[in-house]
Amino acid sequence: MKLRVLGCSGGVGNELKTTSLLVDDDILIDAGSGVGELTLDEMRKIRHVFLTHSHLDHFSFLPLLVDSIFPSIRDALVVHGQPVTLKALQTHVFNWTIWPDFAKLPTEDKPVMRYQELTPGDTFELDGRKLEMIGVNHIVPGVGYRMECDTGAFAFSGDTTTNDNLWNVLNGYDRLDLLLVEAAFANADIDLSKRSGHYTADLLAADLKKLRHKPDIYITHNKPGHETVIMSECRQAISDRKVAAAETGLVFTL
Ligand SMILES: [Zn+2]
Ligand SMILES: [Zn+2]
Repeated sequence: MKLRVLGCSGGVGNELKTTSLLVDDDILIDAGSGVGELTLDEMRKIRHVFLTHSHLDHFSFLPLLVDSIFPSIRDALVVHGQPVTLKALQTHVFNWTIWPDFAKLPTEDKPVMRYQELTPGDTFELDGRKLEMIGVNHIVPGVGYRMECDTGAFAFSGDTTTNDNLWNVLNGYDRLDLLLVEAAFANADIDLSKRSGHYTADLLAADLKKLRHKPDIYITHNKPGHETVIMSECRQAISDRKVAAAETGLVFTL
């Protein structure tokens, strides 16, 4: 299984892109501005999108992706998410005002995209790759995902602050080789992080004590301009683990 980071920043600017991860050549986890890294041919190969939540930085390029590949794909692109997340997209984005309802185009019988609801705890298998949706603790209902194949497993936290469920679920499995987890704010912004449902380095370090596995850890969703401070605080607070900054272009083979 191959994992390519298309975008993992908390914002945009030059090389910074918002959240999107490509698994092999057919699955996206989130569809933020990182999707703009893909060629048209690569976009046409995407078959499934798994959304973590309804915030713009995690789906902003989904409408443009669907429009770019329309109507030249054979089977509908399947957009997976919690019911509340999919409802938000249907009501506020694919509503004929902000963007056409591509779940009805070119025809209602054979649309270019369709929705599939998942709830936390649900699992999904795609050609030997097994995924679990995991509830986390964000300002809107949010999830992370764990994905495994025969040779490895990774997890992505999505946007979250302090919680038990993510760590309990990951501890329930035998294996975790790689963890992409957010730390959006510097420690000085603790109030903001709690109000917006994000980790600081110290909050993340405290939660990582709940994890029994020793995966390689890559930090995502740093607030633009604060990367140096946040990463320095992460390395200091999480000194017993291998921690690095995630960035666009990183590729992991699991
Ligand atoms: Zn969010
Ligand atoms: Zn976000």
